Amino acid sequence: MATVERPTFGTHEVANQPPPLSDYNVYAADQVLVEAVQREGADWAEARISAAGEFAGSAHAQMLGAQANENPPKLKTHDRYGHRVDTVDFHPAWHELMAVGVEHELHCSPWKDPRPGAHVARGAAFMCFSQAEAGVGCPISMTYSVIPALRTQPELAAEWEPRFLSSSYDPANAPAPQKASALAGMGMTEKQGGTDVRANTTLARPVNGGGPGAEYELSGHKWFMSAPQCDAFLVLAQADGGISCFLFPRWTPDGERNRFRLQRLKDKLGNRSNASSEVEFDSASAWLVGEEGAGVRTIIEMVNHTRLDCVLGGATGMRVGVAQAINHASHRSVFGRELVEQPLMRNVLADLAIESEAATIGALRLARAYDEAIAGDEEAQNFKRIANAVLKYWVCKRAVVHAGEALECLGGNGYVEESGMPRLFRESPLNSIWEGSGNVQCLDVLRAMVKSPTALEAFFAEVQEGAVADPRLAAFATELRDELPGDLETIEARARRVVEKMALALQASLLVRYGDEATADAFCASRLSGDWGQAFGTLPAGTDFARIIERHQPVE
Ligand SMILES: Cc1cc2nc3c(=O)[nH]c(=O)nc-3n(C[C@H](O)[C@H](O)[C@H](O)COP(=O)(O)OP(=O)(O)OC[C@H]3O[C@@H](n4cnc5c(N)ncnc54)[C@H](O)[C@@H]3O)c2cc1C
Repeated sequence: MATVERPTFGTHEVANQPPPLSDYNVYAADQVLVEAVQREGADWAEARISAAGEFAGSAHAQMLGAQANENPPKLKTHDRYGHRVDTVDFHPAWHELMAVGVEHELHCSPWKDPRPGAHVARGAAFMCFSQAEAGVGCPISMTYSVIPALRTQPELAAEWEPRFLSSSYDPANAPAPQKASALAGMGMTEKQGGTDVRANTTLARPVNGGGPGAEYELSGHKWFMSAPQCDAFLVLAQADGGISCFLFPRWTPDGERNRFRLQRLKDKLGNRSNASSEVEFDSASAWLVGEEGAGVRTIIEMVNHTRLDCVLGGATGMRVGVAQAINHASHRSVFGRELVEQPLMRNVLADLAIESEAATIGALRLARAYDEAIAGDEEAQNFKRIANAVLKYWVCKRAVVHAGEALECLGGNGYVEESGMPRLFRESPLNSIWEGSGNVQCLDVLRAMVKSPTALEAFFAEVQEGAVADPRLAAFATELRDELPGDLETIEARARRVVEKMALALQASLLVRYGDEATADAFCASRLSGDWGQAFGTLPAGTDFARIIERHQPVE
């Protein structure tokens, strides 16, 4: 029988589909981030940050990020003979990403090489690296953050800090002295209370009289404990003196598995590459960090640094969304014209870009406050006290709607897993929840205003620097100032409104001074003067859309 020749794949030509945004340096392509790094004192680190950016933008890193999410960690409670092992198995992609993050010292560089701009440099590199995959940022961020809290107990810090500062990733589940490096996590949240950690029921019993640095036994549980494969954790538990902070290692000093059980891994909305667990402590050995009863005061040093990373993480998500949206719109034609040329799409892209620029500039300004505060600058300490909570609230909140709108710019492709946008979208609410959820940040701002009036002064001093250059900001800041504290009866119910306005005033002040002129103008017109709608894409028609989009274009 004669065969009929059929052309393979001859039904149609694939056309009008954008090229993947791949194999580019996410740092070099981000003008806003480059300027912020130079301005905030980390220009000396540009080669290192750029190396992280080169890696994160590579097709290989993007593949690793996707694989680590498609193959989430698996809990292994027992070996085949029935012995408890309490380990988590990760896909090789996770380990490769972790190895690169640790090699780039994203978990430790400012402590290993303290110098002006060190937290800015690390923050910018963290922003670049997280564009490959956000989940690995969790143990990296917790290890970075544990150091200042651990230093409360110098002898524990002397033992553990060198392990946390190592740049050789070692995933082995083995006693820390036998490993090339160690990673840290934290355990605060219990079933009956996450925000209210003072309600913790996990008990700590002194083994030999107790006291700072002494051994205790922990009995109880944690309802959320991420990255349980880490080598040590700061954990809150009730001692006789009240809620206290403990260093809890996975292995005891005599080389035994600590009495700690992994009960379950959480089945999470997003952040799927990362393991978050429920755990139990059964007379587990732990060492007191700081005084009994000073647990919250001690662990807050760790929490504050992870809150900085939440701000950096929120800004990172927005940058990814903007880069993907502009890339798509620049290569996709509708009705014979590229989307990026269509007036309404330009408005959406520019509005997303403005939000992203404000988030990045704010995040790196905050990182500089960390550098300065650690160097003893009291004004910076005061500024950071309020600005951290203000930006954690606002940037993380905006990241969620931002991801949804950026996704829509890709049309149907944006709703499809391969685009990476669903992963971005699922990840987006997390930074707002952990390390103190939205309301908690707002209440923290109120607390700081009452307890540290100098912090409020430092915050408004920063706002004022921009207000002198823009009458819209000047009017907005004056009105905001007059509202504070206002009616004390209603201040708690008004906290979100107040903090939102504080965030807008701070971001505007930074944009007016350091941002692009068109971006700053559109930000002030929309966010401060109300010439704006409820959704993204509602900037005033006279906005210089082309200039704003051009500035945020990831690749030519
Ligand atoms: C993926 C993931 C990983 C996590 N990893 C860890 C971890 O490693 N270690 C750890 O300790 N925890 C971890 N958490 C827990 C997280 O920090 C808590 O979920 C968070 O702090 C909120 O606590 P909660 O869940 O108990 O909620 P609740 O404290 O019950 O709060 C519920 C809501 O009420 C609001 N709220 C609280 N107090 C007030 C108030 N006074 N007024 C108004 N509103 C209020 C909060 O903002 C929140 O929106 C993780 C959570 C997630 C989702």
